[in-house]
Amino acid sequence: MTLKDDQYYIDGVLARDKRIVAKTITLIESSLSAHQQVARRIINRLLPETGRAVRLGISGVPGAGKSTFIESLGTQLTGSGHRVAVLAVDPSSKRSGGSVLADKTRMEKLSVAKNAFIRPSPSGGTLGGVARKTRETMLVCEAAGYDVIIVETVGVGQSETTVASMVDFFLLLMIAGAGDELQGIKKGVLEVADAIAVNKADGDNVERAERARKQYENALHYLIPTSPVWTPRVMTCSSLEGRSAGIMDIWDTVLTHRERFSTSGALEGKRRQQSLDWMWSLLEEGLKERFFHNPKIVDRLPRIKRDVENGEISPTAAADELLFSLDNTQGL
Ligand code: GDP
Repeated sequence: MTLKDDQYYIDGVLARDKRIVAKTITLIESSLSAHQQVARRIINRLLPETGRAVRLGISGVPGAGKSTFIESLGTQLTGSGHRVAVLAVDPSSKRSGGSVLADKTRMEKLSVAKNAFIRPSPSGGTLGGVARKTRETMLVCEAAGYDVIIVETVGVGQSETTVASMVDFFLLLMIAGAGDELQGIKKGVLEVADAIAVNKADGDNVERAERARKQYENALHYLIPTSPVWTPRVMTCSSLEGRSAGIMDIWDTVLTHRERFSTSGALEGKRRQQSLDWMWSLLEEGLKERFFHNPKIVDRLPRIKRDVENGEISPTAAADELLFSLDNTQGL
C-alpha cells in the first residue's frame, strides 16, 4: 500500500468514505513502523471526533448465535437510521480460510447495508496486540460517524474481559444446554456481563431457554454488581429471521443502561478508567517487548536460564542480574 499524506486519511474518515476508513484501519493493523506512525498521528487528530457511539461488546461460544444476533440487531438498527460498525477481537484468527469473527459472509444482509461497516478481527499476534488494533479501529469508526460499535469475541483466553474493558456494555450470549447451565463459563466472565441473553428461545426451545434464564439469574444474585447504578439482567431472545424476538428488548436494555450511566456520570468515569487501563497495558507490553529485544538481555538470557534450571543461581538473583544489566542501557 502506498502511503498518502495524513490529511487524505483524516478527510476521508470524516467524510465517511468507507474505502478510506478501510485503508486507515489497514494502516492501524500494519506491522510496518512507517504505517504505525501515520496511524498514530491520524488517530490523535481524529480523537476529538470520537467517543459518541454506543460501544457494545458481545461474546459467546461458537454456535451461540453471535453472527445471527448481530445480523438481526444490526439490520434493525440500520433500518431505523443508525450507523453500525461491527469489529472483532480474535487472537486465534487467521485471515485465510474458515469463518472468522465479524466475517461478512456470516452477516449477509448487514454487510451490504449502506450504513453498516464490518471488519474482521486483526489477524495474528497476542491478545493485547489484537485488542489494541480493535480499540484504535473503534475510534476511527466513531470519527466516521458510526454511532453503534459492536465488538464481537469468542471466549478464548482472556478475550471476554479484554473486550469488556473497551466497551460501555458487555452482553454475554448463551444457549440453553443440557445439565448445568453454568458449565463452560470461565471465572470472571459473569462478573463483567451487563446482561446475559439466552439465545435460540424459539420453537420447542422456548421453555428450556426460560429455565436457563432463571438459572443464570440465580447465579447473578450471588455476584456483587460492578456498578451502583446497574444490576445485570438476564433475558431470552431469538435471532432467527422471521422468528426474531427479544432482540430490540435487549437494545432497549442497552439504552437504559446508557441513560443511567450518562446521567450519573458513570459512563464518563468508566471510559476514563478504560483509557488509563489501556495506557498501562500498552506500557506493560511495550516494556516487555523492549526488554526481550534488548541486546544485553538476548545475550545473557540463555545462560541465565540454564543456570536457574541447574540450580546454580536462584531465580531472584537471576531476575536481578537481568534487570540490573539494563541499568546502563539507554531507553531500556
Ligand atoms: P456464532 O458462532 O456464535 O456466530 O453462531 P451463528 O450465528 O453462526 O449461529 C450458529 C447456528 O445457530 C446457525 O446455524 C444459526 O442459524 C443458528 N441460530 C442462531 N441464532 C438462532 C436462534 O435464535 N434460533 C435458532 N433456532 N437458531 C439460531
